[in-house]
Amino acid sequence: MTTAQLGHVVVVGGGLAAARSCEQLREQGHAGRITLIGAETHLPYDRPPLSKDVLVGELDDTTLRVDYTSLNVTVRAGVRATGLRPTDRVLLTDVGEIPYDGLILATGADPIRMPGEGEQLTLRSIDDALTLRQRLVPGARVVVIGASWIGAEVATAARTRGCHVTCVELDALPLARLMGEGVGKRILEWWDGIDLRLGTAVRQVVPGGVELADGAVLDADLVVTGVGVRPATGWLEASGLELDRGVVTDEWLRAAPGIVAVGDVAAWWSRRYNTRMRVEHWDDASSGPGVAVAALLAPGLGEIPPHDPVPYFWSDQLGHKLQYVGRHSEADNLIWRERENGSWTALWLGADSRLSAALIADLPRENAQAQMAILRGLVLEPSLLTDPGVPLTKAVRSE
Ligand code: FAD
Repeated sequence: MTTAQLGHVVVVGGGLAAARSCEQLREQGHAGRITLIGAETHLPYDRPPLSKDVLVGELDDTTLRVDYTSLNVTVRAGVRATGLRPTDRVLLTDVGEIPYDGLILATGADPIRMPGEGEQLTLRSIDDALTLRQRLVPGARVVVIGASWIGAEVATAARTRGCHVTCVELDALPLARLMGEGVGKRILEWWDGIDLRLGTAVRQVVPGGVELADGAVLDADLVVTGVGVRPATGWLEASGLELDRGVVTDEWLRAAPGIVAVGDVAAWWSRRYNTRMRVEHWDDASSGPGVAVAALLAPGLGEIPPHDPVPYFWSDQLGHKLQYVGRHSEADNLIWRERENGSWTALWLGADSRLSAALIADLPRENAQAQMAILRGLVLEPSLLTDPGVPLTKAVRSE
């Protein structure tokens, strides 16, 4: 089947990956119909600002600048996909069946909730953000569950808005499970003005607060849960598609004939890391559609390179900008690059002295250097890496 022969492409999901998919379809020459189906009543919008500028009241609208009219995309906002019959190429929705020739799955992820009958807010949508913002009033007692990315960003915004913030974290240090103890200790220094309860398990959310595992109750006017997300695949359970913490795809994001998956919902095979990956970050949702659309339009693949990025994400929390690029393991050697102004970069070097990953605090321009060092597979010299005056790509080991 050539591009011209693929008739109706349906994109399911109304987020970044869905919007980028529509753009890519036209950019790559798809001339047939495109229908975008999203459960939310909004046009696709950006989520990273929700826990940052939107929550502190500096931004109200994060709609992506995509012109669906000139792309000739039929947008059906407020329509939820409920099932799929891949052999018939039919999508089931709450407003009826929609036949397709090509299907792009981009349903993202849903926040995990804690047990309990008490009110708990989560933060995934613009509606969530606007509701939460209204409740972040000076003096409000806010309990945030989880000190990871979203938890730390919500705690930051609540502190900025004059709330009394308590954050409950299961691990002994913030971000320790993902970044290790060394990084956790450095991040801990940033948690000024927030009552951070480390090594503390929550049993349930109760009316008016949070009950901890030891039976103690933290009183709260507002409880916000930020303990991670699950891929939004529930609606696909009877479809016959392989699901394993996401829609299982190959290196080109292909899930089945005529079906690709992109963004937070996709569990794709990475050639670079020789493992299945699910990257719940903006960069992946933005870059995946280019490959997925190419694979959808040209099932023979030809020269299409696989989706194999070096993962990248950022987080603005507690007055600091964090950027992480790469993928490290516990076996890697952690090297600190300290700068005079107190900011730092944590570098993970593999046994072969190549850079696995970098976590950069407050020096955005270092990200490109780290990414280049990883992509080029540079063999690096630890004694040069510790010198912030030596660019990362120049800190190479001499033969
Ligand atoms: P989503 O953006 O989740 O979009 C999926 C859409 O599909 C949703 O609109 C959903 O309603 C819809 N949908 C779900 N099920 C159905 C169905 N059955 N039928 C129809 N529609 C359906 N990443 C970073 O790298 N840096 C950051 O600083 C950062 N900050 C973030 C802050 C917040 C508050 C959040 C929520 C995310 C943040 N992210 C960040 C992550 C990033 O936003 C996501 O990786 C990205 O939004 C994923 O895009 P997506 O299109 O795959 O999924």
